[in-house]
Amino acid sequence: MKIVQIAIDVPLNTHFDYAADDVNAEDIGRRALVSFGRRLVVGVIVGIVNQAADPAFKLKPVKEVLRDTPPLPQEILKLARFCSGYYHYPLGQVLAAILPQRLRRTQAINTLTESCYTATEVGLATALDTLPKRALIKRKLLVALQVQRTLARSAVMQLSPSAGSMMREFVACGWALESAMPLTATRNAAILPAQAAAHVLNTDQQAAVTTILGAPPGFASWLLHGVTGSGKTEVYLRAIAEVLVRNGQALVLVPEINLTPQLEARFKARFPDATIVSLHSNLGERERLKHWLMAQAGTAHMVLGTRLAVFVPLPRLQLSVVDEEHDGSFKQQDGMRYSARDVAVFRAREARVPIILGSATPALETYHNALSGRYKLLELKARAVRDAAPPAVHYIDLKREKLIEGFSAPLITAIKQRIKRGEQSLLFINRRGFAPVLLCSECGWLSGCPRCSSRLVVHLKEQRLRCHHCGHEERLPHHCPSCGNVDLAPVGQGTQRLEAALERLFPEARILRVDRDSTRRKNSLANMLEKVHAQEIDILVGTQMLAKGHDFTKLTLVGVLNADGGLYSADFRAAEHLFAQLLQVAGRAGRAADSGEVLVQTAFPDHALFAALQHGDYAQFARTALAEREQAGLPPFSFQAMLRAEAATLDSALKFLRTAAALAPPKAKNIQIYDPVPALMARLAGNERAQLMIESRSRGALQKFLGTWMTGLEAHKTRNVRWALDVDPLDT
Ligand code: ADP
Ligand code: ZN
Ligand code: ZN
Repeated sequence: MKIVQIAIDVPLNTHFDYAADDVNAEDIGRRALVSFGRRLVVGVIVGIVNQAADPAFKLKPVKEVLRDTPPLPQEILKLARFCSGYYHYPLGQVLAAILPQRLRRTQAINTLTESCYTATEVGLATALDTLPKRALIKRKLLVALQVQRTLARSAVMQLSPSAGSMMREFVACGWALESAMPLTATRNAAILPAQAAAHVLNTDQQAAVTTILGAPPGFASWLLHGVTGSGKTEVYLRAIAEVLVRNGQALVLVPEINLTPQLEARFKARFPDATIVSLHSNLGERERLKHWLMAQAGTAHMVLGTRLAVFVPLPRLQLSVVDEEHDGSFKQQDGMRYSARDVAVFRAREARVPIILGSATPALETYHNALSGRYKLLELKARAVRDAAPPAVHYIDLKREKLIEGFSAPLITAIKQRIKRGEQSLLFINRRGFAPVLLCSECGWLSGCPRCSSRLVVHLKEQRLRCHHCGHEERLPHHCPSCGNVDLAPVGQGTQRLEAALERLFPEARILRVDRDSTRRKNSLANMLEKVHAQEIDILVGTQMLAKGHDFTKLTLVGVLNADGGLYSADFRAAEHLFAQLLQVAGRAGRAADSGEVLVQTAFPDHALFAALQHGDYAQFARTALAEREQAGLPPFSFQAMLRAEAATLDSALKFLRTAAALAPPKAKNIQIYDPVPALMARLAGNERAQLMIESRSRGALQKFLGTWMTGLEAHKTRNVRWALDVDPLDT
């Protein structure tokens, strides 16, 4: 008998001992079925002790070691241990968060019989026209195949019991190919990039590529700083090409909304012979498992994914890339609150491989690391496409200009001009819906969310009030619920209202609204962007969805309607986010030969942030902001952790935090414990939330403190309060 140490998905920072005799060291990292309490659960074997168990202490047997997939490699187990230690999150829960969902189920994976089907060119192009209209299920199956490109047999069978035989017909007539899930390791030949697609690098790009490729082998962290369109992706592609030629694997992490089919297509076009798989939370369970196993088996050369992809096993990892490294979506906001960027850097160091962090507006933490020499700074100074001059930025002083339906006279004139010249305008506002709140002019009633400390947003088209935080919805009231007055006024601007105003101001113009509401249906965003490219649109109005990555060659004007909220916010990171966002939207103007203009409506045209924006000067902004942070002792000059509590009443949340503070190790050196306070948004989805901030000038001191504190806190019984520790919190 051996003692098998198993990490289980429960909130206890320990592993559990079971007994087995048919195990050996090679099983470490494998999943195992064990009974835990009255449940049968899947755990991960993290250790095997070769000594007889204490007979006085009777261990439960391991029910089954699952050998259907290869074990998690040492590297990933080590990464999980690091996360468990750094984020103070139980190892069993870390591993549960890392593993694809399918691997957390108690059923073994029947890898050998699972086939998958891939659409062929013919299947994509002509099949649908060939099928009779009546063949409903066949048509449905074919559309699913066309949209997803690859369907696992289990997904096929879900459509209909007869779908399996229909799929065989598709295979027989050449519309689909059948293959086994490629899970076995194969040796790959070197992959060569398609030369035709590559650009001749400009001087900055060449310097960056030469520096990265010329560096001694081993870990190095590069910050590739360059505005959108400066050719960062081209630099990644060159570095990746070098890796693939040497038969290595590359990991590319991108923000959620950037993981588009276009981006995937760009990588696939450059490396037509490489197997590139994606990993993100919208993939079906089967697909995600398949991609994970392909990466682990080494059959995938490159993984392109969102934050969760940072944990994928890659036995030949030679390079990591984090694009838009400042993006908030790299931080997981519940469960294990990790930063995929930071984990990626740690992983690269452990694996002794280089990592490239790319951004037009690096997180101040990252930039600070570059200035202090921990990271190496590479700069792309200009846009890659020739003749594209940076846009001219002007400010419209809202203290002087009267607004007509949210628009100042100079902005209206500028839009008119563009319409006359056949050019496009983009109007940016960071709020969807019609208006942010409904107001009763009689008694002052405001449409508040019953479950959150936030306002219900007016969605006029749908005649609804909606909470953008918890999803609560109700009918738009016809009279004031408080006094009965029928004169209710939507206050403020949202995308829908601007769209309506633009329709009145420019009846001849073709207007398109792009926000989360208008793009809900699958492919609608792609279709909309297509229309913009085809010049079927004169005015675009939308949220930050429009800010990223799209090159509209006829777009020469960007109007920012109201950005002042971020200037004087209680959140010390608000200005950083605002600057990033504005620089990004400003970058939409004049991506082609025509140089563009950006008009920003603001009541604070003299704000330092705007001066830096005018020159497109991130470094200027960052220097000012970092000096302020240093003076205030804020990150990156200090390190923070936030203990968050959630309860039915604010009182119990605060009371828990006070108890927690009292449990803190006494006389902790260099540690500042703040008073518990209600969260910025105290009420969310019916729960009251409070938080307790811990701060230190030393990361080491903070980590040591948290370790002792959390051990004490875990032993402390709490009822009716949910709590979590957030290390390096982004929301403070
Ligand atoms: P970023 O990732 O910084 O936004 P991209 O790599 O996507 O920049 O490049 C922006 C655009 O410029 C793309 O259309 C790309 O094809 C083009 N481009 C990149 N590098 C060059 C180059 N050296 N010469 C010409 N065009 C380039
Ligand atoms: Zn009223
Ligand atoms: Zn709400």
